[in-house]
Amino acid sequence: MLTPTQLIFKAYQSTPKPLPLPNGKTAEWPLPEMHEVPDELCWLCGGRTDHFGRLRKDAVRDSFTDARYARVVESESLCSGCGWILAQKFIRNWSLLVVDGKLEHPSRDRIREVLVQPPTTYPWLLSIAVSGQKHISFAGKVVLSPNSIWVLLEQTPVQIPPSGIGTMLEPIEDLYTAGFAKAEIQTGRYQQNRIRKAGLSWWRAKEELIAPLRGSRVFELAVFAAQKQERKGDDPCCTASILTTKTLPSRRSVSTQSTGAEIPEGSKSRQTSGASSSGRSAQQQSVQQLSLFG
Ligand SMILES: [Zn+2]
Repeated sequence: MLTPTQLIFKAYQSTPKPLPLPNGKTAEWPLPEMHEVPDELCWLCGGRTDHFGRLRKDAVRDSFTDARYARVVESESLCSGCGWILAQKFIRNWSLLVVDGKLEHPSRDRIREVLVQPPTTYPWLLSIAVSGQKHISFAGKVVLSPNSIWVLLEQTPVQIPPSGIGTMLEPIEDLYTAGFAKAEIQTGRYQQNRIRKAGLSWWRAKEELIAPLRGSRVFELAVFAAQKQERKGDDPCCTASILTTKTLPSRRSVSTQSTGAEIPEGSKSRQTSGASSSGRSAQQQSVQQLSLFG
């Protein structure tokens, strides 16, 4: 069975190059020199090396901060997947999606599409870059069946239902489209003037749907993935909503580098709500390190 990095590397090899990036540019990730390695199992992912890859001492720098992910601490070898991923300087700026054996660096719209309608061919993998600074490859999750769908949001694994997160996403996107900031939706701390503008009963109907979910990882994922939607019959005055398939153009993402990852616009003013799970606070911490938002 392939580990996340092995699946990503194999998919990369099978994908036409260069790969399109969400910012309109393209990328071709370099292949480091690989050779015979002594260990059967990979130090980092724990997968089989087939005695081919790189030596850990050649590929893992002193600055590597994710040694806690190492699965086989006594191994001196990296498999070709981990050897390849650790040779990349910029791939972590981009989200990773493997479907049907091909690698994509998905846009926010594409990520939303996958979360609303999860792929039904296996294996697949989705690792979402939030800061663009963290490794999201070897921490990722290979999805092998609809009964256990895990995606990675930065370095936090999030389980989503087999039917996707569309039901949860709808009230979040209604609020977002009506002018509420993602930080307000995330924390439950709304600006009173926005509530007045949207209409108290309309806002309350939406908020009641999402309040029980607040603080969960999947809710955080849904807020991240939310896009402004054109909906018919859902002006902030009435509760019936019909989701159209058209997604409004998302706001231009701001990059921390020329190849920076998309980052959530609501996180800049993110506040703690006091309802955090322990996993969420770690995630918040990583998100709060961000400095630029679209
Ligand atoms: Zn490996």
